[in-house]
Amino acid sequence: MNTSRTDVLVIGAGPAGLAAARAARARGASVTMLDSSDQLGGQFWRHLPPERPSANERMLHHGWVKFRELSETVLSDDGCRVIRGAQVWAIEPDSTSAGAAHLAVHVVVGEPDGTGRRRLVLTPDAIVLATGAHDRTLPFPGWDLPGVFTGGAAQALAKGERLAVGQRVVVSGAGPFLLPVAASLANTGSDVVGVYEANRVPALVRGWLPKPWELAGAAGKGTELAGYLAGHLRHRIPYRLGRAVVAAHGTDRVEAVTIAAVTPDWAPIPGTKQRIEVDAVCVSHGFTPRLELAIAAGCELTAERFVQVDDSQHTNVHGVFAAGEITGIGGVDLALAEGQIAGHAAAGGLAADTEVRSAVRRRRTFRGFARRIEAAHGIRDGWPAMLTDDTIVCRCEEVSYGTLCRATDATGSRSLRALKLSTRAGLGICQGRICGRTIEALLADRVGDAGLTDGVSTDRRPIAAPIRLGELADPAHPDPASQHPVPLKGPK
Ligand SMILES: Cc1cc2nc3c(=O)[nH]c(=O)nc-3n(C[C@H](O)[C@H](O)[C@H](O)COP(=O)(O)OP(=O)(O)OC[C@H]3O[C@@H](n4cnc5c(N)ncnc54)[C@H](O)[C@@H]3O)c2cc1C
Repeated sequence: MNTSRTDVLVIGAGPAGLAAARAARARGASVTMLDSSDQLGGQFWRHLPPERPSANERMLHHGWVKFRELSETVLSDDGCRVIRGAQVWAIEPDSTSAGAAHLAVHVVVGEPDGTGRRRLVLTPDAIVLATGAHDRTLPFPGWDLPGVFTGGAAQALAKGERLAVGQRVVVSGAGPFLLPVAASLANTGSDVVGVYEANRVPALVRGWLPKPWELAGAAGKGTELAGYLAGHLRHRIPYRLGRAVVAAHGTDRVEAVTIAAVTPDWAPIPGTKQRIEVDAVCVSHGFTPRLELAIAAGCELTAERFVQVDDSQHTNVHGVFAAGEITGIGGVDLALAEGQIAGHAAAGGLAADTEVRSAVRRRRTFRGFARRIEAAHGIRDGWPAMLTDDTIVCRCEEVSYGTLCRATDATGSRSLRALKLSTRAGLGICQGRICGRTIEALLADRVGDAGLTDGVSTDRRPIAAPIRLGELADPAHPDPASQHPVPLKGPK
């Protein structure tokens, strides 16, 4: 065995992770790539299950050729070990680790709900975190009814199962992601009765129009947009700006929605409400990065709450790199460019090397693209005006907006931790993945200029995924492929 080789662990096999694994291998590192999913490709290349293949699968995806090229390269390479169904549930500092990153990465491998999952502890020299994002959905009255889906869930069902979420569907929220959601719904047979983007023309102009020549490097996005617009015209899908679904109605499931015009900061405008009969609603307000592993590894975050990286995608933690949606929401092209740079650097390369020159250029272009998306489509502050006293804001623990407000007012507390403990908001099964940022925003809104006191965030989850007590009690299995001895112990 060549013990001088860098042992690179890539966590996440989406666009960023795949690009990182290939680049690290190109520099001669020994690579292990893990993903909790049983398929490669992440959220962007979410594809049909192997038992239900389609000869025309490439028609369902953008960039399918790129996916095939990346996945076939890593899967056919003996120096790249790919472990699917591998959930990283904790990362902890380990000064005794033989891996140069001095971190222990705790993994369970097997069916998420199955028995007999295997525990592994990996101690690599370098780690590339490429854990992606969740979709973000703001609450509104009735959003907890069956038939209300996140845009991402609707996409996953359409792309991964060829299932339409309803017959008559409304798509609402903000951002370019509304377009592929509507397209997938129409392609799976739904009648999309409208797409409602909450931001207005001036915001879109301010976000997209300045310095248009900087968009030249992202010409492929123009083609993608043109494809969606052509699909909208073909399926006669109306696209309206400055409007939002402000309520969903129904008893056992959604039967109708109320659409209203909203102000530039998203507060509903009285007298503009319109009721539309539907049997499903898809809502998306952008994405929230999956930060728990980065935080556990000790990575610093930016003011906008993404992982802080330097030109080489290196975080502040020695040997830990980050790429893709956890460093900023910029789409697949940015994830691919950052992944390539991170993998190259994790294997000992530099951002100035010729091998990554084109990736560095693409990263500059698509970071600019990401800034435009945020400026044009970002969440505005007036959305809490959509909530009523009994609107559920934490679905797992069924905590209403009224309960949250009363607890804040009664205790006078400005502590997020105290509010969570007194109301249980954000403490349910999703561990704040769906509602965490909402709860934080509502508390900040309530306490106003006084500000929150405890400096905690709902992104911190030391146990990143559920693990059974029996699995915890089991010693970790030795990792035969590792170049370093594996410590047989669990996190402290
Ligand atoms: C639900 C959803 C649907 C989307 N659909 C579209 C679309 O249709 N069109 C479009 O242009 N963009 C879409 N996007 C955005 C697009 O997917 C991203 O821009 C792109 O995938 C980012 O790549 P990434 O590698 O950073 O992350 P991802 O593609 O999200 O990959 C991250 C990977 O990390 C794995 N992972 C995370 N945590 C762990 C852990 N603890 N242990 C093991 N594995 C872990 C995940 O399983 C995942 O496979 C979607 C995003 C989401 C969240």
